[in-house]
Amino acid sequence: MKLDLSEIAAHLGKRINYSLNEKPIVDAESGLRCIDPIVGQIAFSNTGRTIDVRGKFQTVVSLECGRCLKAYVMPIESNIEESLPLEGQPWALAAIESDQEELPEDEVEPLFVDNIFDLGEYLRQSILVNVPIKPLCDEVCKGLCPRCGINLNDQTCECEEEPEESPFGALKSLLEEEQEN
Ligand SMILES: [Zn+2]
Ligand SMILES: [Zn+2]
Repeated sequence: MKLDLSEIAAHLGKRINYSLNEKPIVDAESGLRCIDPIVGQIAFSNTGRTIDVRGKFQTVVSLECGRCLKAYVMPIESNIEESLPLEGQPWALAAIESDQEELPEDEVEPLFVDNIFDLGEYLRQSILVNVPIKPLCDEVCKGLCPRCGINLNDQTCECEEEPEESPFGALKSLLEEEQEN
């Protein structure tokens, strides 16, 4: 989804409200899977130096628990706060030149080129920032049994504990080794 902001860029002080209602983003590369549309409100305003983007959005993502591998859903709600530099405008040029800190070329956001704002990419990045690096269906998720693989949240199994996990187990195997010698 790309928005043409030329109209706002051309008029100093112009402000436009935009109702967000985007199709759920499903992105194979990052594994992001929204299951609800992305809805919200955005206000664009031309401040002279930038187009300020302010608002909020919400959606629901489907995640896989890192312990039990079960799919679960997580609502995401996030604020939108972005400043898109106005380039090529007579008043903006002077402002940008007076800017002390210039970003290196490769750090310039590619979200806004020729007055076209890549809203879809912006939302994708914003949602990803809100997704936990190690998703857990529950903080106390018991995960899968390393032996038989059942989900220990739903069932219990008869598998023995790993011997290394018990100090007595380690002692027992030490004693056994000595007996063998
Ligand atoms: Zn889990
Ligand atoms: Zn088991």
